[in-house]
Amino acid sequence: MDTQLAVIGAGPGGYAAAFLAADLGMEVTLVDARARLGGVCLLQGCIPSKALLHVAKTMADARHLADWGVSYSQPTIDLDAVRGKKQKVISTLTGGLGQLAKRRKVRVIQARATFQDSSTLHLESTGDGSPKGGQLEDDSLRFQHCILATGSSPTLIPALDLPTARVMDSTAALALADVPESLLVVGGGYIGLELGTVYNALGSRVSVVEMTEGLLPGADRDLVKPLAKRLEGQFEAVYLGTKVVALAECQDAIEVTFEGPSVAAGEEVKRFDRVLVAVGRRPNSAGLGLENTSVRIDPQGFVTVDESQRTADAKIMAIGDVVGEPMLAHKASHQGKVAVEVLAGGAAVFEPAAIPAVVFTDPEIAWAGLTEEQAKAQGRRVEVAKFPWAASGRAQAVGRTEGLTKWLIDPETDELLGCGIVGPGAGDLISEAVLAIEGGTTVEDITAAIHPHPTFSETLAAAGEVHLGLATDLYRPKRKQ
Ligand code: FAD
Ligand code: NAD
Repeated sequence: MDTQLAVIGAGPGGYAAAFLAADLGMEVTLVDARARLGGVCLLQGCIPSKALLHVAKTMADARHLADWGVSYSQPTIDLDAVRGKKQKVISTLTGGLGQLAKRRKVRVIQARATFQDSSTLHLESTGDGSPKGGQLEDDSLRFQHCILATGSSPTLIPALDLPTARVMDSTAALALADVPESLLVVGGGYIGLELGTVYNALGSRVSVVEMTEGLLPGADRDLVKPLAKRLEGQFEAVYLGTKVVALAECQDAIEVTFEGPSVAAGEEVKRFDRVLVAVGRRPNSAGLGLENTSVRIDPQGFVTVDESQRTADAKIMAIGDVVGEPMLAHKASHQGKVAVEVLAGGAAVFEPAAIPAVVFTDPEIAWAGLTEEQAKAQGRRVEVAKFPWAASGRAQAVGRTEGLTKWLIDPETDELLGCGIVGPGAGDLISEAVLAIEGGTTVEDITAAIHPHPTFSETLAAAGEVHLGLATDLYRPKRKQ
């Protein structure tokens, strides 16, 4: 078989690239080892986790109504129905992608691809042999160009890699086999806190163990604080600066050995019904035959690319999780589009001023652009303006006053450089900040734009007003002339 463009991996990076390339008139073959399109994000990541987080949030909101004197009886949970609804969401979306591929005449092949050389892939069928499963006419595919979008997999720690269903990775946790009475989450990052929230809402007693001194070590402490406080009230325990050094399966539980200052002497060993290990992800770059090409990888296994997503091999580009952090779906899609525009003869580069990050906990945490920590590391002077949501009419009305909106501002030009938000809906609010930062917007611009009242979005303008010393809803003496 021959193709103009081969895309390996049908996740949000690969399918976005394949579809744009087809729209621009290229002849495209999309190869994925899985039977369905969508990659980790749709099949085992973003979408199923957000479907389950929706259940958790709605249950929490219903409980929260007790503050207004409205109480419901304890919910009954039909786990089969929850699982079924989550699967239905996935099926609808992956089915839609299949249709979109067909309409664009993208050839989809279900196979594991490896490089034979810089212009040939070996394809090993992973389908069931039926035409729908992707029967292969030929097991080699010659390409003019290739985009590598093979994504990432959970990081395995040998001491925690126990072959039992009681020890889960995120995929097993999302399968929702049952709701264990007690769950230990190893890793207080994105996955640990999102899935910990889900299991807690469904009825598990959840404990989290995080190796560093705080939850979500990559995020701004001002943003993490309100979330950590809420989670400490909901979770059974949060062990910080603590490691799990051993796991052992006993008759009806996993025995976990902890090491660290938050564990009292004599209490180093505890039992849990299940353990979720979520300690990061590693790029899928091994076993691809990259040694048969000129593609280079760095010591962490990430494929090395330039700002146009080109690898060191002239015919091969790479995008998404396999090329590095942040491992986020929207970054993968954006890089996919850059790669295709370059192939189409454009001068596109991937150099965003703001890649938004969202942790979909309750409250949500979102940030974009420069962070205080990065500014400090770069020795860059910034001004920080914070608007606490306790001064927001909307936050008071819905009883969620723990939120905060903050801007990082260039003291010379008043340009908005970075934004952080914690509070319900922060993930949607951050898009305004992305547009502002990418557009070189100043703090005066954001305050001059009329924001609807009463909404959480007003806090973006209000934080700007704080910087100018002109906040309507807070008394902060003027700091600037
Ligand atoms: P992937 O989605 O990993 O897709 C790679 C594809 O390549 C896979 O389908 C795989 O089968 C295929 N493949 C690999 N090797 C081969 C081969 N040799 N031959 C053929 N096919 C191959 N990100 C967000 O932005 N928001 C979220 O809310 C979010 N939630 C997440 C929740 C969880 C539980 C997890 C695990 C991740 C989450 N992520 C989220 C991260 C997001 O899923 C990834 O950043 C995104 O999927 C990366 O896209 P990608 O296209 O690079 O690769
Ligand atoms: P993560 O990097 O977000 O968090 C892993 C955490 O585990 C870190 O806090 C780390 O300090 C801790 N850790 C590492 N080793 C440990 C050990 N031995 N004991 C205790 N703690 C340990 O990784 P993740 O939660 O596995 O998620 C992987 C990636 O998937 C994320 O980085 C993100 O890119 C992506 N993701 C994104 C979203 C989202 O966008 N909402 C959701 C889920 C996943």
